[in-house]
Parts: sequence; structure tokens; C-alpha cells
Amino acid sequence: MENWDVIIVGAGSAGLAAGIYAVRSGLKTLLLDEKFAGGAIADASKVVNYPGFAEISGSELSEKMTFHARKIGASIHDIESVTGLDLLGEVKTVRTPSASYQTKAVIYSTGSHYKELGVKGEAEFKGRGVSYCGLCDGPFFKGKRVLVVGGGNTACVTTLYLSGLAGHVFVIHRREAFRAEESLVLDISTKSNVDIKWNTEISEIKGDKQVKSVTLTDNMTKQTSELAVDAVFVQIGEAPNSQIAKAAGVEIDEHGYIKVNNRQETNLPGVFAAGDVTDHPIKQVGTAVGQGITAALIAYGYVRRPYYRK
Ligand SMILES: Cc1cc2nc3c(=O)[nH]c(=O)nc-3n(C[C@H](O)[C@H](O)[C@H](O)COP(=O)(O)OP(=O)(O)OC[C@H]3O[C@@H](n4cnc5c(N)ncnc54)[C@H](O)[C@@H]3O)c2cc1C
Repeated sequence: MENWDVIIVGAGSAGLAAGIYAVRSGLKTLLLDEKFAGGAIADASKVVNYPGFAEISGSELSEKMTFHARKIGASIHDIESVTGLDLLGEVKTVRTPSASYQTKAVIYSTGSHYKELGVKGEAEFKGRGVSYCGLCDGPFFKGKRVLVVGGGNTACVTTLYLSGLAGHVFVIHRREAFRAEESLVLDISTKSNVDIKWNTEISEIKGDKQVKSVTLTDNMTKQTSELAVDAVFVQIGEAPNSQIAKAAGVEIDEHGYIKVNNRQETNLPGVFAAGDVTDHPIKQVGTAVGQGITAALIAYGYVRRPYYRK
């Protein structure tokens, strides 16, 4: 069985940043990713808010991060999914379909996935008008007609954000009231460019190169209608990829996010978590990178300087 100082599960922004710092600290470091390294940002058409890059495509940014980690000496195994973890002892075991590895520390950075609608056209127009991140993609729809799907806090925050950018914001919610904080709902009611359609669901997203319209169904009358929009922001929640960590004893919150302290430590000694899989409130590349760096440097202390341990 191969032995490592630290194994990083998930090579997205958080994992790659952790990898760079772990290798630079002299730790024998392995990153495992079930897809190709680079993570979720590879799906972003443009990134305009990561310092140092005024505008860069998500795929280029993820390639640059992966290149950097490999160049510095990190071992990265693409398409090797972690399927099981034993985390309770001093020596931890990380299992994949093709191997078992032993390591002194684990950094868990598997990200999260946006919940999808599952309607016709959604997959086809992903990145071409269908978005799951208002903060990321909203600025590309300045002055346009956009639709927000959802009725919780995230949908309301996105609606408010987009109302300052887009020409017109439509919101559809399958219930007859928002399930969001009252102050957000009140703020939305003051926006003259926001129209809310209650008891309404989306059944199809249509377009050519970009989104052009959606088919809506009133779930009380069952009547369908067409609405011309340039973008659809799906805001029906996110789900962290925390199941394998949870099964190994890592503590999660009520929404499934891994609980960490400000040193990125989980409840298990030698097990750290970083990025979108954690209960950190902000889910962005910059925050994922920062958490990855913290996790690697604290893991370094754990592996090399055990007397620092609390
Ligand atoms: C379309 C889109 C646009 C975005 N635009 C922006 C933007 O403009 N600016 C910004 O700051 N943020 C943006 N984001 C958010 C940003 O991508 C995330 O905050 C960031 O990628 C989080 O990094 P992470 O490393 O925590 O997770 P991820 O990047 O999701 O990486 C997690 C990695 O773990 C791997 N993985 C999962 N499970 C396993 C397993 N069992 N075994 C092995 N590997 C596993 C995954 O394959 C993935 O590579 C955007 C996101 C999306 C989807």
C-alpha cells in the first residue's frame, strides 16, 4: 500500500491550492479527483472576480491551477474516485476502485453540486443562459430579461442582486409564498423591475445558441405559457458532496456541509476540509483557495510538528 503525508480528496480550487501549499511545505502529497482536476470553475464561461485575472474563462483558470500544482510536484490522479475512507486512527486509509492508500492526514475538498431542475433544455443550455450562480453569471445579462427559479433565501438574494443589473427579473416559485427571510421578501417588493409568478413551474427551456424562452405551467390551473427570457437562474439549492466523509465519521451540519473551525479542522484529528463542501457561508473560488491554503498549512503542522496539536 502506498504511503503519503497528505491525501487531498477532490482537485478543484480548494484542493489544488491545498496541494500547492502542501508540496511547498515538503509534504508527500497526492490529489485524487473523480473527474479531471480543475473542479467546478471549469464550467464557468467567464470569471471576472478572481483577483489577478480581470477576465478569464473558467476552463483556462482551472487549467492554470492544475498546471501550477503539477509543476510544483503534486501527484494528481484524474478519474480516480474516492469511494471509502477510514479516518479514525493515526494512519488513515483512502480507498478508490483501483487502490488503497495510507496517509497521515486527509484534506477533504469535494465541492458541492447545484440542484438541477431536470427539465428539457436545461443540460443543453448550461453555460449558454442556464446558470446556477447569480453572482458569477449575473453581470453577463446587464439590461436583459432574466428568470429566477426558486423561493428560498438564495433565490431571493439572487433576485435582488439581478434586479440591479438586469432590465427585468421574473421569479417563478412553485408555492404561493417565499420561504425566505422577511427582510429579503420586503426588499423584493420594492423593486419595480421584478415580477413574481406564484404556483408556477418551468417545464422547458428553449433557444438556439443561447436561451430564448421558457415554457411555464401554472400548477393550479395547469395552463401553460411561453415567456421570452435571455437567462434562467436555477436557485433551488445546493447539495454538498459530503456523503463519503460523513460515512467515515466526519461531522456535518443540518444541510450536509462539513463543519470546520477557522483552521479548517473537522471533528476528527488529522482530517481537514476546505471549499464548497464546508459550512463556510461563501462559495467562491477565492474563498475555496483561502481555505485550501489554511488546510494545507495546518495539516503540515499536524504531520510534521505533532507537538503543535491541540
Ligand atoms: C457555472 C459556475 C460558474 C461559477 N462562476 C464563479 C465565478 O465567476 N467566480 C467564483 O469565484 N466562483 C464561481 N463559481 C463557484 C466556484 O466554482 C466554486 O466556489 C469553487 O469551484 C469551489 O471549489 P472547491 O474546490 O471547493 O470545489 P470544486 O471546484 O467543486 O471541486 C471539487 C472537486 O472534487 C471532485 N470530487 C467530488 N467527489 C469526489 C470523490 N468522491 N472522489 C474524488 N474527487 C471527487 C470533483 O470532481 C471536483 O473536481 C462558479 C461555479 C459554477 C458551477
